[in-house]
Amino acid sequence: MAKKAFKAESKRLLDMMINSIYTHKEIFLRELISNASDAMDKLYFKSLTENIGLSRGDFEINLTVDKENRELIITDNGIGMTKEELDSNLGVIAKSGSLQFKNENDEKENEDISVIGQFGVGFYSAFMVASKVTVETKAYGSDTAYKWYSEGVDGYSITETEKDSYGTKITLKIKESTDEEDYDEFLTDYKIKGIVRKYSDYIRYPIKMMTGHSHLKEGTEDEYETHYALETLNSMVPIWKKNKSELTDEEYNKFYKEKFYDFEDPIVHIHTKTEGTATYSALMYIPAKVPFDYYSKDYEKGLQLYSNGVLIMDKCGDLLPDHFSFVKGLVDSADLSLNISREMLQHDRQLKIMAKSIERSIKNELTKMLRNDREKYEQFWKSFGLQIKFGVYNGFGAGKELLQDLLLFYSSFEKKYVTLEEYVSRMKEEQKNIYFASGETVEKIDKLPQTELVKDKGYEILYLTDSVDEFVMQMMVDYNDKQFKSVSAGDLDLESPEEKEEIKAKAEESKDMFEFIKESLGGKVKDVRLSKILKSHAVCLTSDGMLSIEMEKVLSQMPTETGAKAEKVLEINASHPIFDKMKSLYVSDKDKLKLYSDILYNQALLIEGMAIEDPVDFSNKLCELMS
Ligand code: ADP
Repeated sequence: MAKKAFKAESKRLLDMMINSIYTHKEIFLRELISNASDAMDKLYFKSLTENIGLSRGDFEINLTVDKENRELIITDNGIGMTKEELDSNLGVIAKSGSLQFKNENDEKENEDISVIGQFGVGFYSAFMVASKVTVETKAYGSDTAYKWYSEGVDGYSITETEKDSYGTKITLKIKESTDEEDYDEFLTDYKIKGIVRKYSDYIRYPIKMMTGHSHLKEGTEDEYETHYALETLNSMVPIWKKNKSELTDEEYNKFYKEKFYDFEDPIVHIHTKTEGTATYSALMYIPAKVPFDYYSKDYEKGLQLYSNGVLIMDKCGDLLPDHFSFVKGLVDSADLSLNISREMLQHDRQLKIMAKSIERSIKNELTKMLRNDREKYEQFWKSFGLQIKFGVYNGFGAGKELLQDLLLFYSSFEKKYVTLEEYVSRMKEEQKNIYFASGETVEKIDKLPQTELVKDKGYEILYLTDSVDEFVMQMMVDYNDKQFKSVSAGDLDLESPEEKEEIKAKAEESKDMFEFIKESLGGKVKDVRLSKILKSHAVCLTSDGMLSIEMEKVLSQMPTETGAKAEKVLEINASHPIFDKMKSLYVSDKDKLKLYSDILYNQALLIEGMAIEDPVDFSNKLCELMS
């Protein structure tokens, strides 16, 4: 009998499992029970849709402990596996992404735990407690049964075998205990019962085990005898069918961690039961940390969809709007047909109503958190705020109404995150706009020359540090009738009428010089102007038109370079000594003014955090000026 090798990556993962990075070895049972339950779900579903005639009560999982032979046997009468399925399901740890991730994190050994958790390499966890694993299985409707056998990394074999009926039987040869590890406990009723109650209580099929109870022997006073009886170990009620009042946070969290493979408690759970236009119960969670693939294209959003307790879809994307794609959970509704296909679901009216109502529930929960537990909300915001912002941006502002009050921005006043509502509530009476400034970090923005005058007016500024931020502002246009305005917009409308006149006059006076500077910069800027926003600094860059300098920076970093450029304006501060110097050079030494212009433009680029086109030339020019 030829032995097959595991695929290379499976082998490595298997190695990790055997040398056990899990501290909780006991979870192997949860994994195997969960697989059994899935297999029974599949067959039950098939039965309902194809009229096979099986009912829920026909299904069960059986556990048998054989102490003498050190065996733990898990049997199910689910759908079973064909030879091909056996080979492809248990021969490879299919979700190869997990290994890639593992490589990147090699030095962080502890993280393995969550990696495996996120992928649920389920079946292989058997090797944490077993030295030999045998899987005997017969697919429903098939005549032939197969046996898969493996002792670990060496590989596995598949042979034909005899098996009375469909389903799967897994036999684990439990390892011998060592000084460090007690494996014997996995051969005791007590431990097995405990593990089932702890992790698999909600499984909706009975998990049965022959258990012994000792009783006083009749007619004696100190002789005991043991009665064996088949006991159902789990309560079988799915948690979402229970009442909120029956459940503790711990129970909610435990369910989440097991079901959605997280090792951390969620930040919040949302449990709703709705009756009316749509009747459903939903149990949803927001993870505390960003799943590692969340902001990648591999991430698939969606809620599990049950029809009256039967799983009909694992990830129903239509139930979750993109801006809340981080939510994990499930929805159970009696209104849905079991036969419904993915395509039909998209057009299902009932599903649309549910999706709307789910969106509302999530929004309400977030709003509640924002009001009542700011610290927690900020934690949420750190993980998923970006997604909310994408939400505002993506729908061309369609999500604005729904999402705008969930947004947080860093405030120049508060030195922490604030909402738009808070900003507007403390705007000065004469203040017309909501001001924002963009940059790489809060510290860098705080030093931007462009922020000076606005700060001087005593106006609060929102500091934007995410690349999507300015696009969000552009989509939003306004909040509560207050326009958003970038401090780099050039015209902030902050001056008094007299100041305006004064600037206008000065600008008029130096018109020719500005034209000369613009010419000498050779098309690098659209305009050169007298600044209305600078106070103590000599120069800065602003932009005309829709595309800001910050947006240009973001776009230039995109994989698909658009080549889009902001229409840059070089602003010069008339109150700065350099301005007078330039004026005199314009009269006496135009060549030198050219040199000044070039250097000042490059300085302005540097202030914006942009690269200067020719650093060597810039450095040479500076030296020329110094010598
Ligand atoms: P996962 O459950 O995350 O898919 P596993 O490694 O636990 O990963 O299982 C791999 C696959 O093997 C399952 O998806 C399922 O198709 C199949 N499988 C495992 N256990 C059983 C079982 N008891 N009955 C039928 N199929 C099973």
